[in-house]
Amino acid sequence: MPSFVIMEKCDGCKGQDKTACMHICPNDLMVLDLETDPENPKAYNRDPDMCWECYNCVKICPQQAIDVKGYADFVPMGASVVPLRGSEDIMWTVKFRSGALKRFKFPIRTTPEGKAEPLAGCNTGTEDLKDPLLCTEPDSLRYELPTLKK
Ligand code: SF4
Ligand code: SF4
Repeated sequence: MPSFVIMEKCDGCKGQDKTACMHICPNDLMVLDLETDPENPKAYNRDPDMCWECYNCVKICPQQAIDVKGYADFVPMGASVVPLRGSEDIMWTVKFRSGALKRFKFPIRTTPEGKAEPLAGCNTGTEDLKDPLLCTEPDSLRYELPTLKK
């Protein structure tokens, strides 16, 4: 289900030329509402049908003002999932309807923006579309492929 902004928490990323959620959304869905309160604009998802629930805006919002109502297979029975980004990791807090809390922490990539190497130093591999190897394989597999004896 699409993302939505918790208005009380959103501060419109004051002082930025572009808000964090506008910067990160791959579908260009987040916009500031400059009409309702031009002095204190809040962000909103302008086309929820186009939201693919990637969670980028949820993770980047410095105010934790964006939420996504997750599907039952990943947040069963109305649980909520709240991410908190750190400089080295991201903490996911799952709160169940019973009040039970579970927290999961995962390391995040620390490569500076624009510095990621798409091929990570690997060759693209074969150009033969019928070859079972994928792009960058076998280099990216990091091991010697066994050969079958005929
Ligand atoms: S990133 Fe968060 S605080 Fe900033 S405008 Fe978007 S919803 Fe509001
Ligand atoms: S969940 Fe992803 S696609 Fe949806 S508004 Fe947020 S950043 Fe955009």
